[in-house]
Amino acid sequence: METISPIENSSLEEIEHKFHRTREASEIWKKYPLSERIRLLRLVWNQILKRKEDLIAVLHQETGKPVDEIETIEIGGINFIFKYFSRNASRILRDQPAPAPWIFFNKRAYIRYVPRGVVGLITPWNVPLLTPFGDAIPALIAGNAVVLKPSEWTSQTALFIERMFISSGLFPDGLFRVLVGDGKVGEAVIERSDMVVFTGSTRTGRKVAIKAAELLKPAVLEMGGKHPMIVLKDASLQRAVKAAVWGGLANCGQLCVGVERIFVENEIYPSFVDMVRQEVQTLRQGLSISEEVDLGRLIFPSQLEVIRLHLEDAKEKGAEVTGGDILDDKKLMIRPAVVANARPDMLVMQQETFGPVLPIMPVSSPEEALHLANLSPLGLSASIWTSDISKAENLTRHIEAGVIGINDLLSHYVICSLPFGGFKQSGFGRRHGEEGLRQFCQSQSVLIHEWPSQAPELWWFPYERWKTRLISFLNRLA
Ligand code: NAD
Repeated sequence: METISPIENSSLEEIEHKFHRTREASEIWKKYPLSERIRLLRLVWNQILKRKEDLIAVLHQETGKPVDEIETIEIGGINFIFKYFSRNASRILRDQPAPAPWIFFNKRAYIRYVPRGVVGLITPWNVPLLTPFGDAIPALIAGNAVVLKPSEWTSQTALFIERMFISSGLFPDGLFRVLVGDGKVGEAVIERSDMVVFTGSTRTGRKVAIKAAELLKPAVLEMGGKHPMIVLKDASLQRAVKAAVWGGLANCGQLCVGVERIFVENEIYPSFVDMVRQEVQTLRQGLSISEEVDLGRLIFPSQLEVIRLHLEDAKEKGAEVTGGDILDDKKLMIRPAVVANARPDMLVMQQETFGPVLPIMPVSSPEEALHLANLSPLGLSASIWTSDISKAENLTRHIEAGVIGINDLLSHYVICSLPFGGFKQSGFGRRHGEEGLRQFCQSQSVLIHEWPSQAPELWWFPYERWKTRLISFLNRLA
């Protein structure tokens, strides 16, 4: 394996050149009928799928993810997103009639959705196809051009997609372009785009929000999570255990919606911990592209230090840690860790670990679990596990998270009629759903006076008492 290192920054010249082209392309693309935009995007996606093996090889090379995970999460996820937006875009983006108070009965009002222009996407390293391309699809369908700045640690997948767009010859030149590099290139993207969608850490998101605010650019922020999984004593233990292990360790624990804290009612806590430990033992870990494996490696070198720090802190504070051995630090391979007897004062329960770590804490009641779950400043996703669905529905009303599962987790992302995004410091704005498409447009409110065509309005000059009284009277009737 090659050394894991970041890519060099795109030059200023390249940045200017690509933005110039992208802006020109946006002017052409927005005039294409929606059905044509969808048809062309479907064609390029089919061409990409024809080269699926190459795409998987690139993704595997830069992330070390199991091939099955690449196919189901990254590629499968895009399929779901593409289907949802291509089937629903005409309904979501068509002019929407707007009801007016009866006093305006002689007028017609509607909302029109106008593309923003050039959308800048700034994305992290953990899901290099699904996150950027999953946002590019609705942005493009809505009639925008896109400049993507992927993570400097995983740029090859983005560059592969850019090459496919260019070689397809289907699109106005410059419609989808990639600029590579670190935060400096990210800043250049914010400066030159009409809207920015940032996915990444809360720390960087704050900087992006400040920069966008200075420039008065709309910004959508999708940031970190600290998924609390609350397992009640009447839950199906088998399903909850399997869910905890997959939900916490899929993508080697590097998912914003991944399980980061598990609260289990006292009555089932010992069995739950035993079963989780046994389940983790069965996982096959490796970097083979040909063999079946469940777990790969970390993607970003600094994560190894974060995980080591969190596990040491947990041990010092009395947790029982099993696993977590570093198998190969050059290849970023670490065994998954189960942290039993976790407590709220441990780093592993407070900060996003973003690695293959499952902290489990006993609780005496659902209310205690809810209280602990909401202690985090992050509020992206959460789940409750119980056989009493109506009790769970009531409890979830008190959870401060944008994405909630009852006996389920993570699949929200591909059920694209559900808006996806966080409460609190996990972000603002939503991807997916109707709002996830409309956010890539500016709404334009249109009001048409239909009749009588000659007469002025009562409320125009000159102001006269009898007219004012009549307007007030009519207004009270409304
Ligand atoms: P990061 O914040 O370090 O980087 C994200 C992106 O921002 C990268 O492309 C980076 O180059 C760029 N960047 C850095 N500084 C910048 C600046 N000043 N201006 C503009 N851009 C800048 O995040 P990361 O470490 O790559 O990714 C991990 C984080 O992403 C985790 O916190 C995870 O929870 C989060 N994440 C969130 C979601 C979601 O949908 N909510 C999805 C995936 C990952």
